[in-house]
Amino acid sequence: MTGKHQLPRMIAADAEGIAEAAELLRAGGLVAVPTETVYGLAARADSAPAVAAIYRAKGRPDFNPLIVHVPDLATAETIAEFDERARQLAQAFWPGALTMVLPLRLEARIAAAVTAGLPTIALRCPAHPAMRSLLEQSGLPLAAPSANRSGGVSPTRAGHVADSLGDAVDLVLDGGACAAGIESTIVALRDSGWQILRPGPVSEDQIAAHLGPPLDVKMEGRIEAPGQLSSHYAPGKPVRLGATSAEDGEFLIGFGPIAGDTSLSERGDPAEAAARLYECLHLAAAAPQPRIAVAPIPEEGIGAAINDRLRRAAA
Ligand code: AMP
Ligand code: MG
Repeated sequence: MTGKHQLPRMIAADAEGIAEAAELLRAGGLVAVPTETVYGLAARADSAPAVAAIYRAKGRPDFNPLIVHVPDLATAETIAEFDERARQLAQAFWPGALTMVLPLRLEARIAAAVTAGLPTIALRCPAHPAMRSLLEQSGLPLAAPSANRSGGVSPTRAGHVADSLGDAVDLVLDGGACAAGIESTIVALRDSGWQILRPGPVSEDQIAAHLGPPLDVKMEGRIEAPGQLSSHYAPGKPVRLGATSAEDGEFLIGFGPIAGDTSLSERGDPAEAAARLYECLHLAAAAPQPRIAVAPIPEEGIGAAINDRLRRAAA
């Protein structure tokens, strides 16, 4: 929250709002749009100037490639090379919070900056009705990273987008709070096997149920995911993890029996904790206390994704 900029235009994500947003996107504009993960900052993926505007608005380093959103598997197959594994995952998890990194088709009309020059592309078919309507009405593949300044806390409400980006975004569609609240799982499908690049709402076990065990990273060496920076989601204050009580000057984010100044989930529900993670970090950033402490979160299921984001917020 810098308070230095003008507020963007914000309208409801209803039929009228989506029609206006689709028009703006076709003209090369930037639209913030709710998805089931977090709010995305969308631009047409086939236009170099539109994609350049995403990097500029976010202050995002140009080596950090973008996820492209598509309305369906058929559209996805015109952009990337799908094998049987990719089709199986699409069948099981699309539309939904799974992004696949696949070989980019040579004839795909995608601006080079989207993939940061890589021979692969990250694709997702989202489930949120507003994002789906926008994809259908614009008739465009949409590049859409999280709608916040690079390195900051991701937005799960329209107000978070306005606070972070101001009028660097042309229009914000307000669709209320995001249901999953945490970014998509990213899985890379390589010739040698598959690997999670970013944990998220779809767990490694859920993918393994379809594809068998992942690559042994110790055997294969670490496969780099560009842009998976160790410091990210930073609330602008020091963060202490695994806290069972608040020390002096700390705003405590609780979980389960550890109450805190606010709670990720009083009943200790990991899905609720994921949905409230960024909301709680935004609250903590705005609180008077100079430091933030967070209660321990079990590592199972979506807990792995929550802890991944918390470690980066604390780094
Ligand atoms: P965001 O748009 O902030 O949700 O981040 C998208 C993430 O997707 C980036 O941090 C990249 O690490 C990852 N990504 C996008 N495209 C690729 C790709 N072609 N290969 C590997 N990782 C990718
Ligand atoms: Mg992001």
